[in-house]
Amino acid sequence: MNKNLVVSLGIAILVSLSRCAPTTESADGAMDGSMNAAINKQVQASIEDKDDWWDALPRAAWSPFEIIPVQQNQDWFQVYRIKEGVYGIYEDGQYEEVISYLITGSEAALLFDTGIGVGNISSIVKQLTDLPVSILNSHTHYDHVGGNHYFEKLYGVASLYAANNMTGRTNAEMKEFIGSDWIWKPLPDSTTEENYAGAAFTITDYVTDGYQIDLGERMLEVILVPGHTPDSLVLLDRDNRLMFTGDTFYPSSLYAHSGDADFFEYAKSAEKLAGYRYDVDYLLPGHNEPLVAGYYLTAMRDAFNAIQAPNAQFKLTDGDREYRFDGFTIMVSEPPPWDF
Ligand SMILES: [Zn+2]
Repeated sequence: MNKNLVVSLGIAILVSLSRCAPTTESADGAMDGSMNAAINKQVQASIEDKDDWWDALPRAAWSPFEIIPVQQNQDWFQVYRIKEGVYGIYEDGQYEEVISYLITGSEAALLFDTGIGVGNISSIVKQLTDLPVSILNSHTHYDHVGGNHYFEKLYGVASLYAANNMTGRTNAEMKEFIGSDWIWKPLPDSTTEENYAGAAFTITDYVTDGYQIDLGERMLEVILVPGHTPDSLVLLDRDNRLMFTGDTFYPSSLYAHSGDADFFEYAKSAEKLAGYRYDVDYLLPGHNEPLVAGYYLTAMRDAFNAIQAPNAQFKLTDGDREYRFDGFTIMVSEPPPWDF
């Protein structure tokens, strides 16, 4: 996701997309969004001429989930219990609204993505589990690898793309992502626009398609799904019928058009994932909302097929094609790759 989404779609669509998402399963506890809303208003009042994407917050989709209190500076991370042994660590203060997931077994834990690198996600994780924690990234875009450097054991894909991203990103490349139109929360003391950068990290354990990660009484299976990026993957928790989908599926605009994306690979991966439809009840996306219905696996496959039909309807948004479906859209370059 990036800033252009807000410019192009506008917040009304973001809100309506989240409303299109199916009702999530209820859980104990409820979110009190009043404090966030109050800070939200306060910060907005101090900012002029911005796209107020934060008006969509707090998203109703989070309200069924129990908030887990954590000690931190400036309240950057919101932690929720999503399912038994699954925590969503939500960075709702920044435009990407990225979600990292801590998944625990009886002997080990896995942190699936590490956020944008603001604050110290490792200190949050330590408050949630005493188990040894390893990392796996859904892909290596900046907003999913920011806290990788805090951890020693990192699973990842052997690809040139990931290898390039392991070298980190400079302050010049990164500072716009915490500019005033990208965030509404105060930054933790450790992060400033001057020092914010993407720290380098090292993949220590390479995964392949079908690779299994045993957390003790919880087995996770890696499924490689190139498309959004060459190193994109999802994580299947077969016993619990959950799939962690990263940026391959979330209930908003799917990026099949950006420089790192490959439309045909994405379409092939969507076909592959549709084959898991009856293995999962819920998807846990990398942005915006923590739990959406498994039927989106087939809906996404059908959507990728539908947009390649000659008369498929789209609108041009900032020069790219936007195809709308119930609960999500797909962005495709103009002209589309199938015309080449
Ligand atoms: Zn991404």
